[in-house]
Amino acid sequence: MKFAIIIPDGCADEPQESLGNKTPLQAANVAAMDAVATEGVVGRSNNTPATLPAGSDVANLSLLGYNPLEHFTGRAPLEAAAQGIDLGPDDWAVRCNLVTVEDQVMMDFTAGHISSGEAAELLLAAQEKLGDDRLQFYPGVSYRNLLVYRGEGRPAPFSPDTRTTPPHDLTDKTVLDDYPRGPGSDLLNHLMSETVKLFADHPVNAARRAAGKPPATNIWLWGLGCVPRLTPFAELHGKQGAMITAVDLLRGLASLIGWRRIEVPGATGYLDTDYAAKGRCAVEALDDVDLVCVHVEATDEASHEGNAAAKQEALEEIDRHIVGPIHEALKRHGSYRILVTPDHPTPLRTKTHSHGHVPFALAGDGVASDSALVYDDPTADHSSLVFDEGWRLMDYFLGDHP
Ligand SMILES: [Zn+2]
Repeated sequence: MKFAIIIPDGCADEPQESLGNKTPLQAANVAAMDAVATEGVVGRSNNTPATLPAGSDVANLSLLGYNPLEHFTGRAPLEAAAQGIDLGPDDWAVRCNLVTVEDQVMMDFTAGHISSGEAAELLLAAQEKLGDDRLQFYPGVSYRNLLVYRGEGRPAPFSPDTRTTPPHDLTDKTVLDDYPRGPGSDLLNHLMSETVKLFADHPVNAARRAAGKPPATNIWLWGLGCVPRLTPFAELHGKQGAMITAVDLLRGLASLIGWRRIEVPGATGYLDTDYAAKGRCAVEALDDVDLVCVHVEATDEASHEGNAAAKQEALEEIDRHIVGPIHEALKRHGSYRILVTPDHPTPLRTKTHSHGHVPFALAGDGVASDSALVYDDPTADHSSLVFDEGWRLMDYFLGDHP
């Protein structure tokens, strides 16, 4: 049997006035997703336990079938895995955003989507001034960079009680109450404040200001953790998987569970991503692996920008270019299962990830059809098929059920 999972990141949402009081899923023309709903079932699952932060890291761990209460250690170690950075058992990875903070307000958690080249220069300056063999700054893509604390012989001062705040939760808000706190936070706060001085007159920022772009005023450290030990997916389920995504977090998760990573040219992790290329690569991958998973970030980005129309449009692109072609390809393979589900809600109203259930549509061999004819939030809200522990949905998706 062949399996496919399509993840429109953060697509679950509330009714929008600008969309005629419909949710983005209701407003969008998603005929292919509706076909999955008609053929199979619509339900809802909760991928984010109340005690953990609402984000793609926790939620996708759940979605891939791993209990986050047991396995989640932080976002940064997942991204380190994506970048091929080896973490030893005593090492900690820390997300190191380049941000724009002015008068203690988070003006931009991306420092104006700073280029990777500019980011690398700033991180090099940080490494030279603040780094050593223990503290290593790793440039990534744009504002998404990492700091690694090498703990060998000198235990890291951090613990699971070290609290940090994702900078995308602080957009347009004061940061004063959200600096790192708890074990090891002195070190994190020291590094953050040192970069304020270091970056103030850096040539990269002088050039950005001259060009009317927001400067990267400092680093923002968050999402720290040591490497999680995950039993390979194939060992748990006897199936080989592949991941298509433009986001390091998902690449890292795929690596840690032993999935193949398929890089698609033109996949950007943004609204301008090449949807059709992702669909084509997924269809091709089905020839080689048992399960292919396509993650699309565009829906989440649209919510972060508070842009309902863009969210609707992203859903329609995903539907036409990814869900439709994959469903057709699965039928050619014979027996199959298909699952469409976001990881978490990202309400346009709050522009950030939230806790709560998300709607899913699931169809294929052995899945008896329910009464649902469309895939959207209210239909899922009325369903009796509910997974309060979202990580259990994977067994339902892969397994036998009446
Ligand atoms: Zn997400």
